Amino acid sequence: MTEQQLSSRVAELTRQINEYNHQYYVLDQPSVPDVEYDRLMRELIEIETNHPALKALDSPSQKVGGEALSAFTQVTHQLPMLSLDNVFSAEEWQAFVKRLHDRLGSNDTLAMCAEPKLDGLAVSLRYENGVLVQAATRGDGSTGENITENIRTIKSIPLRLSGDTYPGILEVRGEVFMPKASFDALNAQAIKKGEKTFANPRNAAAGSLRQLDSKITAKRNLAFYAYGVGFVGDSTENALGQTWLENSHYGRLEQLKTVGLPMCPEVRLLTNENECQAFYQDILDSREQLSYEIDGTVLKVDDIALQEKLGFVARAPRWATAYKFPAQEELTVLEDVEFQV
Ligand code: NAD
Repeated sequence: MTEQQLSSRVAELTRQINEYNHQYYVLDQPSVPDVEYDRLMRELIEIETNHPALKALDSPSQKVGGEALSAFTQVTHQLPMLSLDNVFSAEEWQAFVKRLHDRLGSNDTLAMCAEPKLDGLAVSLRYENGVLVQAATRGDGSTGENITENIRTIKSIPLRLSGDTYPGILEVRGEVFMPKASFDALNAQAIKKGEKTFANPRNAAAGSLRQLDSKITAKRNLAFYAYGVGFVGDSTENALGQTWLENSHYGRLEQLKTVGLPMCPEVRLLTNENECQAFYQDILDSREQLSYEIDGTVLKVDDIALQEKLGFVARAPRWATAYKFPAQEELTVLEDVEFQV
């Protein structure tokens, strides 16, 4: 392709991806399967990598999610909520590991926190002096939607932390999702009433959480697993702050569990990166038996000091990647009749 053809291809991909982002993140109504979206995004990234001059500052490859809906009040995240990079094969996983070693300048093995990739919606929960004071969606990563009232209806999210050893300010990051059983029951009910059904548990979770009426959210049987922390600090009443935190990612998830925040039971601390492929395979093999929907695994360098050394790129940390499963479903475009915004 000539420079000019490449440039118009980039413009076309940008337009299309932005449109799909709006349908997926803002309206909760995707119009193409994820596999098609991922294909376009990969094409864009490949062109941008080979022709850096064509990479715009506001390229969708540099952005997280979609904009926050104005129907909700907005929340500025004290620390950004990022996305994840993806790998789709053993070769890509190996290349990711090689990049880790190259960046760290060491071939020492790396302990990894291995987690299922929950197919729901990222949220940030803010506890001040142990009390849940605010909950927000990821939005565009810097600004999310204030969904505190809806989050309060989710039984697995404590309104008050347990015990008395926690930091003055604790932001917990995790996924709200709809367990498969709740999803099936919700769709069965919709069919019975002659209403439209949800395309998949992710859309059901997103549509249920972003309701203006929290009574609707309360009926949807959503659940939550924590997978990290955001801002952690002192408050005037409690100066525990950062000193509370373990230096291991897995250790932090266990800490969150001790104060009442559920951790996905399939999460494992692996002694080295070579065990990740087997973890991926085990989770793929047991996918059908899990009570919640997943679309891959997430593999994270466990040592927080190494995470800090590796840092971030525009939209994702360098110390973690999603290792996604092969695409399963084609899209059925269905919508939630009760979704009000
Ligand atoms: P992502 O879903 O690929 O990965 C990031 C997200 O993973 C996080 O924000 C978090 O919510 C989630 N996650 C689940 N388990 C986690 C764990 N254990 N640890 C950390 N995070 C965990 O990224 P994204 O930016 O939310 O979405 C991009 C993907 O969404 C695309 O690859 C595509 O598959 C899909 N998408 C589809 C369309 C479409 O039109 N079909 C449009 C936009 C996006």
